[in-house]
Amino acid sequence: MAAAVNGPWRPSRVEVDLAAIRDNVVRLREIAGTDLCAVVKADGYGHGAVPVARAARDAGARWLAVALVEEGVALRDAGIDAPILLLAEPPVDAVEALLAHDLTPMAYSPAFLARLDAAGRDRGRRVAVHVKVDTGMGRVGVPESGWGGTLEMLDAATGLEVDGFATHLACADEPARDTTSRQLDAFDRFLTDAARHGFEPRWVHAANSAGTIAHPRARHTLVRCGIGIYGLSPSGEVDAAAAGLRSAFTLTSQVAYPKHVAAGTAVSYGHRWHAPSDGWLATVPIGYADGVPRAVGGNVDVVVAGRRAPLVGAVCMDQLMVWCGDHEPRVGDRVELLGGSGPRVEEWAAAADTITYEIATGLTGRLPRVHGSA
Ligand SMILES: *Cc1c(COP(=O)(O)O)cnc(C)c1O
Repeated sequence: MAAAVNGPWRPSRVEVDLAAIRDNVVRLREIAGTDLCAVVKADGYGHGAVPVARAARDAGARWLAVALVEEGVALRDAGIDAPILLLAEPPVDAVEALLAHDLTPMAYSPAFLARLDAAGRDRGRRVAVHVKVDTGMGRVGVPESGWGGTLEMLDAATGLEVDGFATHLACADEPARDTTSRQLDAFDRFLTDAARHGFEPRWVHAANSAGTIAHPRARHTLVRCGIGIYGLSPSGEVDAAAAGLRSAFTLTSQVAYPKHVAAGTAVSYGHRWHAPSDGWLATVPIGYADGVPRAVGGNVDVVVAGRRAPLVGAVCMDQLMVWCGDHEPRVGDRVELLGGSGPRVEEWAAAADTITYEIATGLTGRLPRVHGSA
């Protein structure tokens, strides 16, 4: 009985509801009224890239997107044959590998475009590329000063098929700012120039999840949604629940060690918390090495056996403590740390002064992922 010897023993786990992912994809497609690219980089924002990719495709996602060649290869190795977009250029030496796995890069640097063009010519065909322009993100993408030169290069390239144009929005999650409309104006200028060169590709995309929800003009012919398909809010101002999306995961554990302590008992590193009265303390076997930010210690309530209970004292590497007061916890009591009747990811993000993305992708590989359709 190998399973009995090898476990799993730890009770802490991430449960992913693939039905929520499917519903969110359907909802985002409804909002966008365009095709959707499901962004499954960073192991599907911590949810498991392969099962999320399959669920998203089942729900009608046209494209998948990843950040790394390695992530695209992992999807291919799992038998996924959907079109896969690479969101950023890998080093030029990865061109052969990305073509071998039929990944479509978003490209912008002259050296990368030249290498891709040469690889296409070597094969006697045109290889698909989505050219990305910088309209104000200030990260990657052809800067406006290079648009003319890039279009001339594309005119001359016999090994490239311009299958898409893309840009990325810097402030879509802050709808009150005018940055997004200025970026979209710039993108329109680029698209007009490109059309003059005869380039009117099928796929034109600018919107991330916040762009999809809050900026109708950003939707073009494809939207690239990551955080929204996981049902998490891009920001405090663009709320997932208000858009009809629901979180797809719960983070749960169990009470490992309950004990009764006297008022004033100091708890955890630094002794920064003391029991306010005689009462029950529960230790839960999960910590910052699993991705629970230290900053949530003392700042969120979790749920123990159905009751709200504050997380107290410093979060440790592998354990954290919860104050149950008068209610005696038992070994094995279910602890809902995130999702379910526990706090929302948005609450953790606020408590840790970060964004939902960092909470979701920060849950480490040490936590088992369990997939189902609740
Ligand atoms: C990660 C990423 C997205 C998805 O953004 P969300 O805010 O998670 O929807 C879209 N486009 C690019 C270029 C990205 O890097």
